[in-house]
Amino acid sequence: MKPFPVLVSLVAFVLGGCAATRPVAVERAAAAPVPVVAETAGPRPDDNLNAVVWTQTAIERELLTRQAFAAAREQLSRALADPAWDALPHEEREGGIDRLEPAIIVDIDETMLDNSPYQARLVRDGASYDEFTWAQWCREERAQAVPGALEFARYAAERGVTVFYLSNRARDLNTVTLANLRRLGFPIADRDDVFLGLGTVVPGCEQNGSEKGCRRRLVAREHRVLMQVGDQIGDFVDVLANTPAGRRQAVEPYLGWIGERWFVLPNPTYGSWEPALFNNAWSLPAAERRRMKLDALDYQGR
Ligand SMILES: [Mg+2]
Repeated sequence: MKPFPVLVSLVAFVLGGCAATRPVAVERAAAAPVPVVAETAGPRPDDNLNAVVWTQTAIERELLTRQAFAAAREQLSRALADPAWDALPHEEREGGIDRLEPAIIVDIDETMLDNSPYQARLVRDGASYDEFTWAQWCREERAQAVPGALEFARYAAERGVTVFYLSNRARDLNTVTLANLRRLGFPIADRDDVFLGLGTVVPGCEQNGSEKGCRRRLVAREHRVLMQVGDQIGDFVDVLANTPAGRRQAVEPYLGWIGERWFVLPNPTYGSWEPALFNNAWSLPAAERRRMKLDALDYQGR
């Protein structure tokens, strides 16, 4: 039969062809420099990669947030039992605290809700934060709870403490933000002002930019503020000069409250600590801002 030898010949040719080309390919691979595919296939290098991947994957990050919320929970009974206990910056307390109902003030982003997927998308897409994509992310309502946050907020609410969500999310994101919080099981008190977003008007108080002082005062007019929780120092006290020295100066009087009345969560992905390094001048070219951040590194003289 003729077809068989033809088939055998064809198979032999194909195999032989493969065998014949393999040494050449191996030879080429051995001689070639390390492929540069890895550099060109993925997103371009981004200074935020380590911070975002740490936030999303390092168990240490989860342990830190749980540590903060466990400490807050531990202090809550003491705070409730002490009628003089107040976690409001001294200059923001407008009157006495007798007979005021207990409350806590918590920030939302990177405090109660984890928006690291938004940051991850920016790294992937070679993009920077902007209000439009940020609002799109918020409207997805897919943020998860920061580890430990949900348990702490529920623990506080179960003890009769009102949780105020004081956020620099825009007020028009209030519905989606509350829906996101509610779906995760965060306690949302039955009152209109439980979400205090950017743009909240506080009678008798002139807001300084996006600082939260007026909104804290608003809560404090009717409440004894037992605790504050946040990932930025502006979540606790107004910062008059956003420079490294000004930021330190703002919190210095309250260092004794850290871990007692004020609970700080880690956020290496963004925050006012960053523009503090380039005079808050986001209008500067990215390379210039980066150079100023490099200038902030400490080499101990060498
Ligand atoms: Mg925040």
